[in-house]
Amino acid sequence: MKLRVLVPLLLAVAAAIGLVVGGLLPSGGNGASPTASSSATATASATGSPSQSASPSPSGSTTTSSQSNFKITKLAPGEKPPQFVVVSFDGACRLDLWKHYLDLQKAVGAEFTFFLSGLCIVPDNQRFLYHPPHKAAGTSAIGFGTPSFIPGRITNMTAAYNSGNEIGTHFLGHFCDANGVDSWNQADWRSEITQFNNFLDNWPKVTGLSNLPPLPFTSAVIKGGRTPCLGGKRSQYLPVFKSFGYRYDASGTGSLRWPTKVAATGSNAGATVPFTASASSSMWEFPLQSIQVVGYGRSQLSMDYNFLYAQNKGVTTGSTALCNRARTSTTASYLKAFNAVYNGNHAPLIIGNHFNTWLCGAYRDAITTLVTTVHQQHPDVQFISFIDLANWLDAQTPAVLASLRGLGSQSE
Ligand SMILES: [Zn+2]
Repeated sequence: MKLRVLVPLLLAVAAAIGLVVGGLLPSGGNGASPTASSSATATASATGSPSQSASPSPSGSTTTSSQSNFKITKLAPGEKPPQFVVVSFDGACRLDLWKHYLDLQKAVGAEFTFFLSGLCIVPDNQRFLYHPPHKAAGTSAIGFGTPSFIPGRITNMTAAYNSGNEIGTHFLGHFCDANGVDSWNQADWRSEITQFNNFLDNWPKVTGLSNLPPLPFTSAVIKGGRTPCLGGKRSQYLPVFKSFGYRYDASGTGSLRWPTKVAATGSNAGATVPFTASASSSMWEFPLQSIQVVGYGRSQLSMDYNFLYAQNKGVTTGSTALCNRARTSTTASYLKAFNAVYNGNHAPLIIGNHFNTWLCGAYRDAITTLVTTVHQQHPDVQFISFIDLANWLDAQTPAVLASLRGLGSQSE
């Protein structure tokens, strides 16, 4: 079920999220070396390596998005659960899409999860500050930040956090090749996350932008992420997530079913564990869900690039007719999956998106229609972030959680 992102699609992701696909990619190797196309023009002062800066002290605390307006309810045994929908974005760089989704969430009172690609705020001319595992310094599979876009990104991240949305991580270099995240050990993941946190916490130095208001949050608010291409070995990254205080992983693949807990430490990291497992040794698993791709006779993960693969072989452009077909299909698919859980086991519906306008904006439009339609038709449905979902689940008794999980996978 796991779909490996093809190189062209990866570059499309970079373009979609507004990164500079520079000439610093390794030549050869994965054969993906693109032509140099740096558009970096602004200057930024180099003021020290982020890796030498103080790292926040991750400690498994339960700090969450303090701005969230979500009210946690505790279910009585047998009580009908709320219907949650969790919409999350990988990358979260493009300014026009920041505006679109922040407008959308405000209009309907939704809260989304934004998994930042940290290199969106590392200017192309500061790329050598990044030391990726098993790659040369200054290497990235998705490029680095276009300097002129970075102030707007900081502003949007501020607005997103202050509006109750969750800030999570999609990490840095987005390496999905044979020498990428699948080969990383715990030390590699620790390096990646430490650097991500330092870029985020020291962004004025990294960017040279000293005239903007400070971000209203630090890396301490990050409680979960989604790995590049859903890759990486869980035995390697989950213990590191745990050491940084993360409380969930959104990189898995699953079905329309209530979430479970997985071991986050020890040799069985990634294995399902009972709901009574301690918070210090486990975390929530919030997988993308296999849902029907309406009109295409198959199922795919509830993520835009997986739909793009099913609908157009991963090609991000197409004719108006093709775009319309993909838009109609994706919208119908989201609504079908929603109606299945809403009228069935009430499992949270989990939708992933890459902050893009692939196929004339088909996936952006499908999410927008899903959110607005469900909001109009079912005011009881709550669009919440992953961390709010984790907090809600943690507030329930193990018996209630086990009974919800016991409802099994919802068919469509
Ligand atoms: Zn990605």
